[in-house]
Amino acid sequence: MSIKAVNLSHTYHPGTPLETCALKNISFEFDRRTWFSVVGHTGSGKSTLAQHLNGLLLPMEGQVWVDGMEVKEKSRSLQEIRRKVGLVFQYPEQQLFAETVYDEIAFAPRNWGVPENEIPQRVNLAMEQAGLEKNCLKRSPFNLSGGEKRKAAIASVLSSVPDYLVLDEPTAGLDSYSRKELTSLLVRLRSEGMGILLVTHDLDIALQFSDSILVLQGGTQVVWKKPQAVLEHLQANPVPGLKLPDIAQLSAALREKGKNVPLTWQWKCLKTALFGEK
Ligand code: ADP
Repeated sequence: MSIKAVNLSHTYHPGTPLETCALKNISFEFDRRTWFSVVGHTGSGKSTLAQHLNGLLLPMEGQVWVDGMEVKEKSRSLQEIRRKVGLVFQYPEQQLFAETVYDEIAFAPRNWGVPENEIPQRVNLAMEQAGLEKNCLKRSPFNLSGGEKRKAAIASVLSSVPDYLVLDEPTAGLDSYSRKELTSLLVRLRSEGMGILLVTHDLDIALQFSDSILVLQGGTQVVWKKPQAVLEHLQANPVPGLKLPDIAQLSAALREKGKNVPLTWQWKCLKTALFGEK
């Protein structure tokens, strides 16, 4: 059970003066129960890639497969693919539309034909998973705080019980406490069997939590590997606009000075190498 892209390419407005190649020959695969991050500078094609995974955009060249079903026009599986792959947009305002938080979260399961007597249970569970307070239920989603809006947007996707959760820059604009809450939620969902695809420009988060990372630059694939290998690649071949975490920069600088420390983004690991403390 996995999401797989094979030589995926996408061009906006082909054959017009506005033609923009957003993705060129991208290939990767990630399984359920794993966290896959797509990292890159603004304009590198991350959102375009995310939108291909639940058929919001359809491949122009190459293929995308979800649990063995191909994402393509007029495919009978497209409905099922959209249920399996929940997409959380970059800005909650792009997603929220209902009059109350309850209706917002109930919308997807109602749309998928879940019986009305099962809806409250779905809504409660999704709210709990997303860490949204119950007293938000009757409020307008547009009057929530920034962090609550983000949680409501996530809950509105979790209520259809997806197998994969694709999140486009979900930590943007969150304070460090809310970021921690969000990453804990994603870690928990992964351990419960969900596949997580995180789109981010934050290499620190990607390195800390991912099972594998794809780095994009100008719509092309720079590297797709495990976190440590990605760090080594980016250290040797810097990508403009993609900053290595401070600890990684420090460990690289120490190595250049001849210190016997590993290249790492983890403070614990660097501290042990420097001071012998566990
Ligand atoms: P990222 O998410 O990494 O910022 P995007 O996928 O949004 O990158 O954009 C990749 C490229 O495609 C950029 O050059 C962007 O300007 C262009 N692009 C994105 N969306 C559209 C669109 N709807 N129409 C035309 N060009 C677009």
